[in-house]
Amino acid sequence: MNNPFDNAMTQLDKVAKIKNFSDEFIARLRQPDRDIRVSIPVKMDDGTLKIFEGYRVEYNNALGPYKGGIRYHPDTEINEVKALAFWMMLKCAVAGIPMGGGKGGITVNPKELSKRELERLSRGWVQKLSDILGPYKDVPAPDVNTTPEVMDFMNDEYQKITGDKTGAVITGKSLGKGGSEGRGTATAQGGFFVFEALKKELNLPDKCKVIIQGFGNAGLNAALIWNKAGYSIIAISDSKSGVYNENGLNIEKLIEYKKNTGSLSGFLEGKEITNEELLETECDLLIPAAFENQITDKNADKIKTKTILELANGPVTPEADEILFKKGITVIPDILANSGGVTVSYFEWDQNLKREHWSEKEVFNKLKPILEDSAKQTLEKAKESNTDLRRGAFILALERIEEKMHI
Ligand code: NAD
Repeated sequence: MNNPFDNAMTQLDKVAKIKNFSDEFIARLRQPDRDIRVSIPVKMDDGTLKIFEGYRVEYNNALGPYKGGIRYHPDTEINEVKALAFWMMLKCAVAGIPMGGGKGGITVNPKELSKRELERLSRGWVQKLSDILGPYKDVPAPDVNTTPEVMDFMNDEYQKITGDKTGAVITGKSLGKGGSEGRGTATAQGGFFVFEALKKELNLPDKCKVIIQGFGNAGLNAALIWNKAGYSIIAISDSKSGVYNENGLNIEKLIEYKKNTGSLSGFLEGKEITNEELLETECDLLIPAAFENQITDKNADKIKTKTILELANGPVTPEADEILFKKGITVIPDILANSGGVTVSYFEWDQNLKREHWSEKEVFNKLKPILEDSAKQTLEKAKESNTDLRRGAFILALERIEEKMHI
């Protein structure tokens, strides 16, 4: 398994080679401003005490307060959080929003906790880190396995400790607690805006065949959005299995099926496939929307799609990037493709500070031009340097950050 932070640094080095950034600037970006590990003691329901390891990485705040989600996962560790914080820094810069890059996490399987244990753990993370958090300092958000309810616990704990009642310290809250309309679907919706902005340039057919890896917030909403727009979703998967139907899956039925059975396995209107098979099935658009390191030097050669849109963070390794480039497969990089989530998080922060509440229509009307513009600028940067979209997006972001850092 590739170390995600090594992958991120390899990507940075590749860009530094083709563009004249100063050595001092690149050296500063090879380390986060600060990375913090905390131990979080939690009283479990059976009376025992369990200690969890938590993290916050504040990568860079040249453009604004550190911003980034918190991941709850048994495999979460500091290198993953550092990589995600680095990508967040770039993502905010690509979107052109006044936020810096950060990320957090806890090594835990939240499915093994009761709701009360989950609440104590989430409040414990804030208790350990409240000094460094704040609407103008560091603004966490949700990521894998962290829900609006978890964000509400964290926001409430921060208010108790500091007295700050703006709610602007945490985004991704539930609507009643100051959350933004559209935040739940923003990542997938943003990916769709980016895709539509680039579709013509990528010479994709009008009615693309789409495959999605992951059936959570990003993947499930992407399936609904692409399907509603008339695209055929021919395969989709979760962590356990995948399902394939060459004529297109009925997504609403599949959601209902998983809700009732807890699994995609056994869905009668499709054939069961493994995640490996799913990635290697022929399609026009492949959307990895699960985890890092899914397309690597081991399987890149077997990928049979025209375009990959990275809704997940870091699903394609740097080695795989090179292989895909040679095969003529376009990768729309994570720092552009999934930036809808952080952009609507920024809208939530803005609404909280202004004491406003925007309608979903207003939110998406503001989101669309931002992402279309980022997509076009990324494409221009890639063309200028005769390189791929990932390097194009890096160049766009790094130029914006370097300008603000006055090195
Ligand atoms: P989630 O927890 O809601 O869903 C993750 C999904 O991936 C689940 O359906 C899970 O079953 C599936 N999965 C896990 N391992 C898998 C595997 N090996 N193969 C196939 N599927 C697998 O998480 P999410 O919020 O949808 O996040 C998914 C990815 O999108 C992550 O990389 C995250 O960082 C990124 N992302 C999410 C957001 C957001 O707003 N949710 C924003 C930007 C980026």
